[in-house]
Amino acid sequence: MSDFNLPNIQRTEKPRLVVVGAGFGGLKLVWKLMNKGFQIILIDRHNYHQFQPLYYQVATAGLEPSSISFPLRKIFHKRKDIHIRMARLERVHHAQKYIQTDLGKLSYDHLVIATGVGTNFFGMENIRKNAIPMKSVGEALFLRNRILNCFENAINEKDEGQKASYLNIVVVGGGPTGVEVSGALSEMRKYVLPGDFPELDFSQMKITLLEAGQRLLAGMSERSSAKSKQYLERLGVKVSLETMVEDYDGETISIKDHQPIHAKTLIWAAGVSGSTIAGLEEFQAGAGRIKVDRYSRLEGPENVYALGDISYMEEEHFPKGHPQVAQVAIQQGNNLANNLKKKDVKNWKPFSYKDLGSMATVGRNLAVCDLPLLSFHGFFAWVFWLAVHLFQILGVKNKLFVFLNWTWSYFTFDQSLRLILKQGDK
Ligand SMILES: Cc1cc2nc3c(=O)[nH]c(=O)nc-3n(C[C@H](O)[C@H](O)[C@H](O)COP(=O)(O)OP(=O)(O)OC[C@H]3O[C@@H](n4cnc5c(N)ncnc54)[C@H](O)[C@@H]3O)c2cc1C
Repeated sequence: MSDFNLPNIQRTEKPRLVVVGAGFGGLKLVWKLMNKGFQIILIDRHNYHQFQPLYYQVATAGLEPSSISFPLRKIFHKRKDIHIRMARLERVHHAQKYIQTDLGKLSYDHLVIATGVGTNFFGMENIRKNAIPMKSVGEALFLRNRILNCFENAINEKDEGQKASYLNIVVVGGGPTGVEVSGALSEMRKYVLPGDFPELDFSQMKITLLEAGQRLLAGMSERSSAKSKQYLERLGVKVSLETMVEDYDGETISIKDHQPIHAKTLIWAAGVSGSTIAGLEEFQAGAGRIKVDRYSRLEGPENVYALGDISYMEEEHFPKGHPQVAQVAIQQGNNLANNLKKKDVKNWKPFSYKDLGSMATVGRNLAVCDLPLLSFHGFFAWVFWLAVHLFQILGVKNKLFVFLNWTWSYFTFDQSLRLILKQGDK
């Protein structure tokens, strides 16, 4: 069998572990297997790890992208036996044990797929073209530019209908992302924007959250769902449940059985889907996920594993697979790393998900939190949310910057990062 190497990566006597995806799952796995007898090659299409739960704060000018992104080469600074390549996985050739990337072919002894998922537009091409998703730091920054640009345009707009359309923001999807971004936007409307744009009447600015299901935060308790809706409405967000968006041409949102809404900004937070990985089509479960056993192994190809959002694993308590959240990815990365360290496969431990709870913040002093034995809301849930997220962000400097930004915003009622970034001088 041919052996393929990327430039400047030579085979060593150690088994080669190729990990594709430096998200929560891939990064945990690599961190735990460092100096544990593998030659590790970590591949990601970006040169940084992204902390997705705080994208919405980048989009609403609360945090800089660099506070929630961490360069991979810095994380593994001076580490031997780890090679990092910014590359895109294109195909897996599992029979020949190599992958095709945009940098070339690379052989592996063990291959871990941890590529996460992308935005699900449910096949609606117009929405894919015109709505703004929030599945990367780049998209969050683009959204920030779009929102701020809309106010700059509104201030010069003579036509009242067009002005209203610039000021309208519609969010689709009542999961944590939709709830959090709606809450943050309503706080911007209250505390920040009227001072920045005194010529605009912000009582005209509408923020609408549309959710196709019967409640917000469907993965949380009924009480948290109800509380989050109550909090959002208190902040002036119009919440519309059982409301299905069907089309958007960049100006008008068509909604099943409802009047259309005119808005220049549609934020799409309605769902995620994996993208089929060429060469692994036969192992796909629903929604683009890859079916694995309790050891994160694909059934068939030798030494190929998948973990995190892209994987679909059934457990007794999760017969339809695990929720696509960070803790599942981290715990699966941890479990697979522990197993790979053991020489004898008979000693491997099956994965078992420990649900540590879930939470979402709606705004200043307002959050909902469901822990395994306790559910609470309001100020203490908000402080708990801040602490948990701060703890999870990589790097001392990032923690410090985020903490300082949050403290500054809390006491000054201001978000200081309202730059519209453009390419060149246009
Ligand atoms: C806006 C938002 C908010 C969220 N909030 C929360 C929250 O509050 N709490 C929570 O628990 N979860 C939250 N999640 C979900 C959580 O972020 C995911 O469950 C988690 O990131 C999954 O980790 P992962 O390792 O499977 O994949 P990811 O973290 O998505 O990482 C995948 C990596 O693979 C790389 N990649 C993808 N395709 C390729 C390719 N072809 N070639 C090379 N590299 C590739 C990507 O660049 C990325 O670095 C949120 C998600 C989003 C989008």
